[in-house]
Amino acid sequence: MNFVIITKKQLLISLFVLIISCISITFYTTFAKEYDSYIFSNSLENNYSANDLQNKLDNLYYSDEKVAYLTFDDGPTKIATTKILDILKENDVHASFFVIGYRVKEFPDIVKREYEEGHFIANHGYSHNNSKLYKSKDAFINEIMSTDEAISSAIDVSNYHSHIFRFPNGSKSKNYASSKKLCKNYLKEIGYGYVDWNALNNDSIKKYSSYELLNNFKKSCKNKNSLVILMHDTSDVSKSYESLDDSIKYLKEQGYSFKTFNDLLFTMK
Ligand SMILES: [Zn+2]
Repeated sequence: MNFVIITKKQLLISLFVLIISCISITFYTTFAKEYDSYIFSNSLENNYSANDLQNKLDNLYYSDEKVAYLTFDDGPTKIATTKILDILKENDVHASFFVIGYRVKEFPDIVKREYEEGHFIANHGYSHNNSKLYKSKDAFINEIMSTDEAISSAIDVSNYHSHIFRFPNGSKSKNYASSKKLCKNYLKEIGYGYVDWNALNNDSIKKYSSYELLNNFKKSCKNKNSLVILMHDTSDVSKSYESLDDSIKYLKEQGYSFKTFNDLLFTMK
């Protein structure tokens, strides 16, 4: 019979490797979420081409699976965003917030809460003012960068890169159409993609009751597999938070799963 002779030195090395492996597994499973967030916010820009990202975003609407991306624009605001975060938490659902830079500076704690509760923080420009946003190439890029900087300091993550921008009023609206065309190229230069939506409850159009908002929402989602849903975490026109719980429950009943743009970015690594 052959015996494998293990020296004391080999035994110690094996034990050392075993202990390091256990520590690594424990660390990863405990801090996986924070670690992933860090990787995505700091290093992803080196690993993909902006064209690939834009292709993914353009093809989002053609998925075979039933997926819903809840998106909230124009926040953070004190009452609406807080109520929306409470409802998302109760329903165990994550969303993407397209924040405005100057509002991030006003309510950094709310953005921190969004981030810590697993939501994706995306970029909606600093001023939400078209005449400032499209003034020049530098002005456009500065609006995006300074919004990311504001997010960075709110969530305490250095060099946060949000990767995904939404044009105020959408990329297809006629206002500033020629500027938007140029800006789509500038976005690629700085590693960003942009996304619009294919479903909405019209909460920014006029004052609707929660019943009407829910009806608008159901009509807009009809016969679509993949949904990018536009709502606003403001309460200046309609209050989307009043119909949000019913809207989420409706999507769940219809068999949708929920994703954020963070999930999409991870598929690009
Ligand atoms: Zn907006």
